[in-house]
Amino acid sequence: MFDRISIRYKLIVLLGLSAALALLISSAITIYSTYLSESRASLRVLHQLTDVISENMRAALAFGDAGSANTMLASLRADPHVLLAVVNDESGRPLAEYRAARLSGALVSRLQAGVQARILGSADALGRVDGFVEHIDNDLMGVLRPVFFEGAPIGVLAVVSDTGVMWARIRELVLLQVVTSVLTLVLLLFLSVKLQSLFTRPIMKLVGAMQDVARTKNYRADLKADRRDEFGTLYAGFHAMLADIRERDERLSLLATTDALTGLANRRHAMETLQTMLARAQRKGEPLGIIMLDIDAFKAVNDRYGHPVGDRVIQDVARVLQANARDYDLVARLGGEEFLVVCDGGTPEATAAMAERIRAGVEAREVRDTAEASFHVTVSLGVHSAVPQSAQDDIEKMIRAADKALYRAKEAGRNRYVVG
Ligand code: GH3
Ligand code: MG
Ligand code: MG
Repeated sequence: MFDRISIRYKLIVLLGLSAALALLISSAITIYSTYLSESRASLRVLHQLTDVISENMRAALAFGDAGSANTMLASLRADPHVLLAVVNDESGRPLAEYRAARLSGALVSRLQAGVQARILGSADALGRVDGFVEHIDNDLMGVLRPVFFEGAPIGVLAVVSDTGVMWARIRELVLLQVVTSVLTLVLLLFLSVKLQSLFTRPIMKLVGAMQDVARTKNYRADLKADRRDEFGTLYAGFHAMLADIRERDERLSLLATTDALTGLANRRHAMETLQTMLARAQRKGEPLGIIMLDIDAFKAVNDRYGHPVGDRVIQDVARVLQANARDYDLVARLGGEEFLVVCDGGTPEATAAMAERIRAGVEAREVRDTAEASFHVTVSLGVHSAVPQSAQDDIEKMIRAADKALYRAKEAGRNRYVVG
C-alpha cells in the first residue's frame, strides 16, 4: 500500500505529520504548565482576599460582633466569583456567613462534598486550624485560615470561590495555541510541499533519464554530475554505468563484425553489408562490382617462413586492399587468405581497374621475414560486375561468378585478375 504512493506525497505526509506531532506535544506541555501556574495564581489571589478580610474581621471576632462581621462578608458580593465565606469563632460557632445568590441546589451539595468538606474538615472539633489550608479542583477553590488577635487564634475564616477566572484565562490561551498551531501547520505544509522537490526532483530526473535510455536504447544521459550530495554520486554512477555499457556494446559489435587478425569486416558482417549494398544498387539500377581474392601459393609461404610470417602477409594484403578501396566500398576477409571487395557503383571496367591496382600493389609490397630478409607475394583475383535484378538471388550468383573468375585466374597462371 505504502509503496504505491509516490515519494513526493510520502515526503509531504512525513514532514506534515512530524510537524503536527511536534506542535501537539509542545502545545500539550504549554497548556498543562499554564494550568499549573494559573491555578497557583488563582489561589494566591484568594489568599490575598482572605488576608484583607481576616485583618478586618479581628475586631468583630474579638467582640463577637456578628452584625459588622456579616456586613464585612456581604461586601464580597462585589466579586462574582466568591461563592461562600464563613467566619467561625474560637469555639467553632458560626459568627457570620456570606452566600452568593447563585449558590443554591446542586452547587451547594457539590460544595459540601468537595471544597467545604476538605477545607472545613481540616479544622478540629472547634473549627480551629493550625495554619492555612487551601484546595483547588476543576470547579472550585477555597482557603481556610485562622484569625489571630495578639498572637492567639480567635476564629477561623473560610472563603470559597469558583475557578471561572482561571478557566477563562486557560481558554484564551488554548484558543491562541490552537490558532498559532494551525497557522504554523499550514505554513509548514506549504514549506514541505516546496522542500520535498529538493529530494524528488533529482530522483525524478534520474527516473526520466533511465526511462529515456530504456526507450531509445541510446546509452547516454544528460544529468548534471556536479552535485556534491548523494544524488551527485548516483548521477556519476549512472553515467559511469552507461559509459561501461557503451564501451562493451562497441567492443562486442566490433568483435562480432570484424576479423581479429586484419581488422577488416568478417564473413558474417560482409554478407549482411553485401545484402544492403545489393538492395540499394538494385533500387537505383546501378552496377555493383565484386572482387574475390586469394593469395598465391600461400601454403609455401607458411611452410618456408612459418605461420607468424604468413599472418603478417595476410595483414599486408589487407592494408593494400584498404589503401585501394574507397570509404563506401566493402573490404572483408572471408577466411584463411581469401578476401572480398565490393565496389559501390563498380562498372566492369572500374572494378577491373581496381583489381589491377590491388594486384600490382601486393606484388610491389615487400614482406619482411623473421630474418629481416624480404620477399614478395602475389594474388589472383576474380572480378564480376552486374546491375543486380533481385537482391536475394544475386548475392549467390555474383559471388559464384567472381569465384569462377578467380579459379580461372589461378588456372591461367596466378598473379592476375580475370573478369567473369
Ligand atoms: P593457391 O595459389 O592455389 O591458392 O595455393 P595456396 O597454397 O595458397 O593454396 P590455398 O589457397 O588452398 O592455401 C590455403 C592455405 O592458407 C592453407 C592454410 O595453411 C593457410 N592459412 C589459412 N588461414 C591462415 C591463417 O590465418 N594464417 C596463416 N599463416 N595461414 C593460413
Ligand atoms: Mg585459398
Ligand atoms: Mg591461396
